[in-house]
Amino acid sequence: MNELVTLMGASRRLHVLVCWPEAQVEHDDTHILTSLPEVFKSGAYGRRPQESVSLYKCLEAFLQEEPLGPEDMWYCPGCKKHCQAIKKLDLWRLPEILVIHLKRFSYSRFSKNKLETYVDFPIDNFDLSPYIVQKNGQSCSRYMLYAVSNHYGSMGGGHYTAFVHQGGDQWYEFDDSHVYPISQEKIKSSAAYVLFYRRVIEA
Ligand SMILES: [Zn+2]
Repeated sequence: MNELVTLMGASRRLHVLVCWPEAQVEHDDTHILTSLPEVFKSGAYGRRPQESVSLYKCLEAFLQEEPLGPEDMWYCPGCKKHCQAIKKLDLWRLPEILVIHLKRFSYSRFSKNKLETYVDFPIDNFDLSPYIVQKNGQSCSRYMLYAVSNHYGSMGGGHYTAFVHQGGDQWYEFDDSHVYPISQEKIKSSAAYVLFYRRVIEA
């Protein structure tokens, strides 16, 4: 441990090498190690303010296969035992009102963290048609944004405001007892937390 601390002081970066016994590697499914999630970003040098991701990329990540770890075993009715499995979510039918809750708060056993990533979300034309499993008999898969709930602050305390669409290009900001007109260009920010979409009515 003393050696590690010295290393950190010199390069500000800590590399940890873990060696498993050969027998253990054969016993465990190491496939899940290929997609380890980022659970903690240090504020000191991990923060990248320009970091941006599109809402479509978030959706693709949400719909990706997720290997379940050894602590999340699935009981297989065929083998009659618990085994490591893969979880997969799909979109089957779409609702009239679509609410997207961005996971800005990450929890682990060791840390709680707010993710300030800028999510670039569509306003006029959020097209979900490529992500629907059941293609036939669908009503329109395009959505228009009509409201955004924002969260400012951290895990300990914060403040919520809302942007609401009021026809044409007109948006309003609701902040406690104050309501201001706001231009559509200001709707997207890294404070966006919950997105409210309404299905486009086709002519
Ligand atoms: Zn099985």
